[in-house]
Amino acid sequence: MIEKNFSLQCLNSYCLPGTAEYFYRYHSEDELSDILRWARRKDIPLHILGGGSNILISRPFIEGLVIHMGPLFLNRKGETLLAGSGVDTSLAVLHAWHHGLSGAEFLYGLPGNLGGALFMNARAYDRSMSDIILSAKVMDETGEVFWVDKSDMAFGYKDSVFQHRPWAILAMLFQLQKGDKESIRKEMTRCIDIRRTKGHYDFPSCGSVFKNPYEAGIPAGKLVEELSLKGKRAGGAEIFSKHGNFIVNRDSACAEDILKLLEIIRQEAREKRGILLTPEVDIW
Ligand SMILES: Cc1cc2nc3c(=O)[nH]c(=O)nc-3n(C[C@H](O)[C@H](O)[C@H](O)COP(=O)(O)OP(=O)(O)OC[C@H]3O[C@@H](n4cnc5c(N)ncnc54)[C@H](O)[C@@H]3O)c2cc1C
Repeated sequence: MIEKNFSLQCLNSYCLPGTAEYFYRYHSEDELSDILRWARRKDIPLHILGGGSNILISRPFIEGLVIHMGPLFLNRKGETLLAGSGVDTSLAVLHAWHHGLSGAEFLYGLPGNLGGALFMNARAYDRSMSDIILSAKVMDETGEVFWVDKSDMAFGYKDSVFQHRPWAILAMLFQLQKGDKESIRKEMTRCIDIRRTKGHYDFPSCGSVFKNPYEAGIPAGKLVEELSLKGKRAGGAEIFSKHGNFIVNRDSACAEDILKLLEIIRQEAREKRGILLTPEVDIW
């Protein structure tokens, strides 16, 4: 069912207000296919939403149709895991642990859903989604469903083919390995504890706002620190004092506050260090 004028405030990790002109919560492949065809006929712009942990809602009104993606299922077969794209990423890791499967621990504590993680080629502790994925089931803008093999996913640093095609990711297949449950649990705890220590969950945010400019030989967070921008505020937003590549919503920030800080970082990096920063967050 399509809803009109739907608030997205509870569906993005920044908790920013914003109303979707049309909103559809995934129910079934057939229904999604019909809805995509309807949107195409009417020339309605599409926005795909997963867990909302890597988007910045910059406008009060989002024209077009926001599709909140599912489906929600997890099936283990041998050392593979078939998962719906709407599954919470940490829940998938827990499921793997439950079955004594190792390989996905690095994703434990990563906010958001599997679809968004694959789209972004999410990365932590030198491992990426691309290390464990085998294939993904997608629907294109005409409502056709097909599988994409890993070899066709064009993975790069925080990049994948899904960022360059109008596809909705429906499900994915992971290759994991049998492991010792206690060691898997320890590694999961280690990964989430690092996030806790770094303050990842202290305030609403989207995680890192910029991709690391590897060609410049410095991580974005370190660059922000060297520019003495940590702790700088605009309205209710702050360049996080614990992590220079996070801009946090400290106190009822609005999108303009966050965008202002993003622009200050970008400008200072360019003017003082000659480094061009690319946002990692998807700005709606
Ligand atoms: C505290 C914190 C820490 C973070 N740490 C990390 C980190 O260590 N490493 C990292 O890589 N990221 C990190 N992130 C960013 C974010 O959590 C990841 O990018 C996450 O994988 C995004 O998933 P999501 O479901 O929330 O995607 P969303 O924010 O909903 O969407 C992100 C993008 O993916 C697209 N998308 C989402 N689902 C689908 C789908 N099913 N089909 C097609 N397109 C889709 C959206 O259109 C959008 O462009 C962090 C974020 C926070 C808040």
